[in-house]
Amino acid sequence: MEHQVDVAIIGAGQAGLAVGWYLRRRTDLSFVILDDQDAPGGAWRHTWPSLRLFSPATFSSLPGRLMPSTGAQNPDGAHVIDYLTDYETRYDLPVRRPVHVNAVHRHGEGFRLETTADTWSARAVVSATGTWSQPFWPTVPGRRTFRGTQVHCAHYAGPAPYDGKRVVVVGGANSGAQIAAEIAEVANLTWCLKGEPHWLPDEVDGRELFRVATERSRALAAGLPDPGGVAALGNIVVVPPVKRARDAGLLHSEPMFHRFTPTGIAWADGREQDVDAVIWCTGFRPALRHLRPLHVRDDNRSICIDGTASTTVDGLYLVGYGDWTGPGSATLIGVGPTAKATAAALQRRLVTPAPVPAC
Ligand code: FAD
Repeated sequence: MEHQVDVAIIGAGQAGLAVGWYLRRRTDLSFVILDDQDAPGGAWRHTWPSLRLFSPATFSSLPGRLMPSTGAQNPDGAHVIDYLTDYETRYDLPVRRPVHVNAVHRHGEGFRLETTADTWSARAVVSATGTWSQPFWPTVPGRRTFRGTQVHCAHYAGPAPYDGKRVVVVGGANSGAQIAAEIAEVANLTWCLKGEPHWLPDEVDGRELFRVATERSRALAAGLPDPGGVAALGNIVVVPPVKRARDAGLLHSEPMFHRFTPTGIAWADGREQDVDAVIWCTGFRPALRHLRPLHVRDDNRSICIDGTASTTVDGLYLVGYGDWTGPGSATLIGVGPTAKATAAALQRRLVTPAPVPAC
């Protein structure tokens, strides 16, 4: 079956829903949101049970509706899933699932989307597919010959299987710190990272990160000197479980190891250590395979955008992947302004102004 809309949004995580909310509120454009999950929640459906948001609920909201409070403790993934589920139904957003978009092709002045269910034509496409489905594994010699278990944090389901084991956690950002903190409680932890951990000041949370990201983007847009991003402050948000483990002296860092042995890891200085398991907290890459037919990347493999509009593919918008698609746009609170600007750009592009009558 073939369907036609003005705008096809790919991905019904927080980014896709926020764009949908603004399209519904501020435009008369027809649109659909195609999502390949069985149920609402986007990436939050796959987080580990103990993950806590960086910010309190009231500072983790999408446009139009405050996230219900969770008291003194920051929300967990289940709370965000409930919130996004309610958001979709409350605003009657036209989400179709499970529908995986395999490929987006040029079709006249618009696009044709090949999916696992039906074909869609759209005058414009908003890609909001996030990063969770593209875990990044660094290349380390011997990785395939290591006989222990390895998991990326995208598939980490909690500390229980590691009880009493010798476990390496790789990665010095938030996922690495949060998982290292809980592994240290039950296992013999080795926490490997490049350099020292960069703790943010204890009182800093997502609110401050968003403020710094916004200030930076405003300064750059105004042609002022770069005031530095959040990296200048540090990068690990000291949520309560991380604070507890750090203050108890459980989070010693080691340099990144150099290679695997069949039974463990070895550092460049010749030290070796036997281990049972490695948990990779080494980040994610944007999930953009469906855009391959459009050749959206330039010769340097970069994607050039103006706001959220691709400068190489007219009519294509990218929302929510990281600071490169808008300050703080990979966060619940941060994606709102980006989504609003994208809906306004779509309105300008797709709605032809009525001709001014001649006098
Ligand atoms: P997603 O939530 O990934 O949604 C994209 C959707 O598109 C998914 O449903 C996906 O399955 C679907 N999809 C992908 N490809 C296709 C396709 N080809 N066809 C159809 N559907 C497709 N964020 C915060 O806001 N606050 C926090 O406090 C916070 N804390 C975090 C703590 C940690 C430790 C980590 C690791 C992350 C944290 N994040 C936080 C980030 C947050 O998890 C993600 O950045 C966010 O979920 C991204 O939203 P999104 O809508 O862009 O993508």
